Amino acid sequence: MYNKAVTVEKGLRMSEPLDAKAIRDEVIHYTCVSNCFGKRDNAAGCCKMADRDFIIGPIDDAQEFLKRLNTRDKAKYKFDDIFIEYKEGSKLFPDKVSWQDPNHYPALRLQMNDPEFACNFLSEKQECTVYGIRPKTCRNYLCEHLKKLVDLL
Ligand code: SF4
Ligand code: SF4
Repeated sequence: MYNKAVTVEKGLRMSEPLDAKAIRDEVIHYTCVSNCFGKRDNAAGCCKMADRDFIIGPIDDAQEFLKRLNTRDKAKYKFDDIFIEYKEGSKLFPDKVSWQDPNHYPALRLQMNDPEFACNFLSEKQECTVYGIRPKTCRNYLCEHLKKLVDLL
């Protein structure tokens, strides 16, 4: 769950000596914006459901994220604008197991008219539009592909 715009910034720092954490961060960034799931030029796979059984939740810091968002965007949003709760989500995708578990909620709303069902905050350029204030779930998430890569470091 990364942002291409940040990669440019980070790329400029590549000439500086890197410690282990910085190397790990660079590998994560490169993978997420250029080689997501090990596919060249693929980005932000975990910001979309696509045809997988996948839900972007639970968002444990939902209220805090909503607060950050409303501070940034001048109190524009209510909880339901941003999040889906179990009662609604379980009916939206009845054939997807991950949407049938109450523990996976609240989840981030998706772009329902997008064939890839991207998160509402993912732009057409595959950038997270709330990157600096994104939920903890997004900040901490490592998919299986990325976990394996990071374990090699
Ligand atoms: S964590 Fe995995 S799925 Fe998500 S953007 Fe990074 S490589 Fe892609
Ligand atoms: S909030 Fe940002 S990082 Fe999290 S799923 Fe949505 S687009 Fe991806």
